[in-house]
Amino acid sequence: MKTKSKNRYNKDSPRIAIIGSGVCGLGIGWRLSQLGYRVDVFESEKIGKGATWAAAGMLAAGVECEPGEEKLLELTTKSQRMWPNFLKDIEKSTNINPHYRDEGTLVIAFNNDELSKLRFNYKFQSRLGIELEWLDKEEVRTLEPHLNSKTLDAVFSKNDHQVDNRFLLLALADAFKNSGGRIHEKHKVKSIKIEKERVKGIVIDSEFHKADIVLLAAGAHSSSIDGLPDSIIPPVRPVKGQMLALQMDINRPLIKHVIWTPNSYLVPRNDGRLIIGATIEESGFNSDITAGALYSLLESAWRTLPTIEELPVVETWCGFRPTSRDDAPILGPTEIEGLVLATGHHRNGILLAPLTADTISEYISTGNIPPEIEDYNIDRFLN
Ligand SMILES: Cc1cc2nc3c(=O)[nH]c(=O)nc-3n(C[C@H](O)[C@H](O)[C@H](O)COP(=O)(O)OP(=O)(O)OC[C@H]3O[C@@H](n4cnc5c(N)ncnc54)[C@H](O)[C@@H]3O)c2cc1C
Repeated sequence: MKTKSKNRYNKDSPRIAIIGSGVCGLGIGWRLSQLGYRVDVFESEKIGKGATWAAAGMLAAGVECEPGEEKLLELTTKSQRMWPNFLKDIEKSTNINPHYRDEGTLVIAFNNDELSKLRFNYKFQSRLGIELEWLDKEEVRTLEPHLNSKTLDAVFSKNDHQVDNRFLLLALADAFKNSGGRIHEKHKVKSIKIEKERVKGIVIDSEFHKADIVLLAAGAHSSSIDGLPDSIIPPVRPVKGQMLALQMDINRPLIKHVIWTPNSYLVPRNDGRLIIGATIEESGFNSDITAGALYSLLESAWRTLPTIEELPVVETWCGFRPTSRDDAPILGPTEIEGLVLATGHHRNGILLAPLTADTISEYISTGNIPPEIEDYNIDRFLN
């Protein structure tokens, strides 16, 4: 058993209230409680039912980078490089293993159209310094023999790894509690109390909880908490993603790498589950699982791996990416003293977990904004 440190915090240190127990809230909370702060995380549901639970866990700074995201790449690559040490620290703080896997990611093509797109992305991403390898169809089949025999060339990204986001969430929650943090489930924060441009605490139902620092990390719900002046309501909306999981034979998984196809991605887990995702939908918080979404995901996965035909579907679900107006995260202080934001991570929140946790906890503990996040403040939306 790992040692539990109790009451490490100094009575005079500021009281920190975090809204949301996703990867942002728990990651930052854990780092702050390690530093000796008194931290309370408030969660409207049970822990881990937000986007962090719903995600695929890909740490894909490389192959996910699209034109227009050159600047964001600096942030995502930095965080990607932080993952190994982040994991070592998690390992020291909990016995829960987040199942990090480092086989890398393959992006495949089936026809000439898809091959042209693959070649374009390969050139674009390589020019940005992303380490990629072009593989011909024989090399691809050697790496993944179960792929459809019509698979043409592919791009291999050796640095785009994956983690099991659901285990990560459990690990972070345990690490946070082991370092003295407290989680309050079923505590929906209604509003943030502000007086004279300074945060005073949060209101849950009609109960007031005093806090010197409030961290807003409520994922796709971050814009719906009362009490904030208009200028600092984070411009974050839900972008729905539907997914499903098939069960492979755990001793004979069909693939080892994360596979990207033009219309879906396939992520093999240690327990034999094959995660297939994901749609990108602008439909608010509508949580219906639709026939059309399942059909298109399954059709794309079946085209990639025809032998999935006999596999049982073990789960379908959806989640809501917290998406900001420019698809980049919103990180750091606000014009209200003591109010800090960590939200808007869109499709990169798991990848950005180490960077988010370390930079925001550094800001809260030192008052200095780490240079990596200087350009990701909410002020960028003022105009
Ligand atoms: C289908 C899908 C696939 C994805 N795949 C990937 C991927 O492969 N790689 C990757 O890096 N990212 C991926 N993402 C994105 C990633 O999941 C998110 O960016 C990340 O989880 C956001 O974390 P968070 O802590 O900000 O939000 P969340 O995990 O949503 O946590 C916010 C928490 O706040 C709680 N909350 C909300 N309102 C309140 C309130 N008023 N009071 C108290 N608590 C409240 C919620 O219940 C929730 O638990 C995916 C997302 C989806 C939906």
